[in-house]
Amino acid sequence: MNNAYEYIVYQADSMLQQLCKTRRDLHKYAERGWCEIRTSSLIAGRLTELGYQVLTGPDVCLGSARMGLPSEEQLEAEYKRAIAQGAVQPFAQQARCGYTGVIGLLDCGDGPTVALRFDIDALGLSEEHGTGHLPCAEGFSSVNNGVMHACGHDGHTAIGLGVAEILINLKKHLHGKVKLIFQPAEEGVRGARSIVEHGHLDDVDYVIGNHMNESQGNYQIGLTSGATLASTKIDIFYKGRAAHAGTAPEKGRNAMLSAATVVLNLQSIPRNGQGGTYINVGTLHAGSGRNVICDSAKLEVEVRGETTALNAYMEDYTRRIAESAGNMHGCSCEIKLMGATESLESSPDMLSYCEKICREKLGLSVAPLSSKAGGSEDFAYMVNRVRSHGGKGLFFNTLAPCSGGFHTKDFDFPESFLCNGVKAFCGLTYDLLTGGRP
Ligand SMILES: [Zn+2]
Repeated sequence: MNNAYEYIVYQADSMLQQLCKTRRDLHKYAERGWCEIRTSSLIAGRLTELGYQVLTGPDVCLGSARMGLPSEEQLEAEYKRAIAQGAVQPFAQQARCGYTGVIGLLDCGDGPTVALRFDIDALGLSEEHGTGHLPCAEGFSSVNNGVMHACGHDGHTAIGLGVAEILINLKKHLHGKVKLIFQPAEEGVRGARSIVEHGHLDDVDYVIGNHMNESQGNYQIGLTSGATLASTKIDIFYKGRAAHAGTAPEKGRNAMLSAATVVLNLQSIPRNGQGGTYINVGTLHAGSGRNVICDSAKLEVEVRGETTALNAYMEDYTRRIAESAGNMHGCSCEIKLMGATESLESSPDMLSYCEKICREKLGLSVAPLSSKAGGSEDFAYMVNRVRSHGGKGLFFNTLAPCSGGFHTKDFDFPESFLCNGVKAFCGLTYDLLTGGRP
């Protein structure tokens, strides 16, 4: 090879068919957070085949730090489904019970440790079945009812496996360690914390993550200096007492009233002068019959803030209102934490470094640096942990003219852009492990 960057570009372009095949297979068998048993088993199998040291099961995610886990019965049913859909052993067994993270390690001697994060989960959404939707026309739309890759994580996973192949072929040129982190349950910001709390980011010098995003002009890579939003997802449960609505309503404890009170009062949390804050009550389920005093209610709520502190302000206020609304009508209130993330900002010098490598070494066009981030991303936990001990973090976007919208039933993306993601990850890792520095 003339030059390693040329090799990376050539290899990434040459593997397009393979990236499509992987992506389409994952898309067809979409799996939600903590249920990515088939996905996880295929990743672990491939990394093992390539020659990586592979961590799976409780060695990846700290059990007690996982958030928003489905019930044991659901997880068991998902295990059976995954086996029927071709999950491979022994890795499927290791991913059972909500341990679906995978880490691939490549030790190339002395030098920095570079961690790359790829998220692997799908969303709870039913996919479009019309033939105008490419996955349907081409026969790879989701066979799992109500589950769909509508955020591109099938593409992210395919990129990760492509990166794994190229980096191991470059092994003899690298000095340092590579950690490929395949993260479960990014949707609902539930998974990253369990990997961080296990300690996997404690020895990392550089951590790099990516998400596909809408095109900006003809640019291929997007970088933002702004922060993503910190967010907390909670479920609120009210327990009251049922009673006859006509003869003895006073004997009841009306959970519906607590729920209605909390919905309206959450919207009245005062604004905060330090920056933007958001709240949404997404669902409310309550009651069992027209003539029965409602004895239970459940609400799904999320708050967000421009900074971790602003999010904490929203969360504390929400918890206080929720408790008070329960007390008001004599109902008990239980609050379950379902997901959380901090705000995320790339290290400033990593942004200019990424721009330089992508433009000058890989021939990728990079959109002008924008300050607009928005949304939430639990990769924040990884970046913040690495930055807390003096390391650096980078979050970049691979840009593509996506169709439909993110998180909608007709979402799709042009697969050719997957090669750009592979190039950026490999180019940055190669440079860092051959003495390059931001
Ligand atoms: Zn996503």
